Amino acid sequence: MNYDENNIFAKIIRKEIPCELVGENSTTIAFNDISPRAPIHILIIPKNNYLNYHDFISLAEKEELINLHQLINKIIKEKKLENDGYRLITNTGINGNQEVKHLHFHLLGGKNLGIMIN
Ligand code: AMP
Repeated sequence: MNYDENNIFAKIIRKEIPCELVGENSTTIAFNDISPRAPIHILIIPKNNYLNYHDFISLAEKEELINLHQLINKIIKEKKLENDGYRLITNTGINGNQEVKHLHFHLLGGKNLGIMIN
C-alpha cells in the first residue's frame, strides 16, 4: 500500500486541520485523540510520511526513531503515568484494524484499561 498524502494525520502535520497539541520535537508531534478511549489518550506520530511501524523502522533516520521514543517517554513522565502504568499500541494494516494510514502510537492511561483484546 502506498502512503496517501491526504490522510487526516498528514493534514494535521501540515496544519490544515487543528489538533490539541500535547508535545513536539523536530521530527515528532503528539496530540489528543479526538475520540478518547481512556482519560489519557494521546497519539504520537512522526512528522515524515510513514505508513506503519515496519516502514518507520526500516526507512527512518536514527534521529527520528530516537525523537519519537523520547517524546513518548517525556509525555509518560509529564502525565505521571509511570507508577500506575499505561498502554502503548500501534495498530497496523488490516489485521491490526489500522484506521489512519500514517504511523501512530496510542498512549492510553488514567484508568485500568482491562484486558488487551476482548
Ligand atoms: P487507528 O485505528 O489505530 O488507526 O486509530 C486512529 C485514531 O485516530 C482513532 O483513535 C481516532 O479516534 C483518531 N483520530 C481520527 N481523526 C482524528 C483527529 N482529527 N484528531 C485526533 N485523533 C483522530
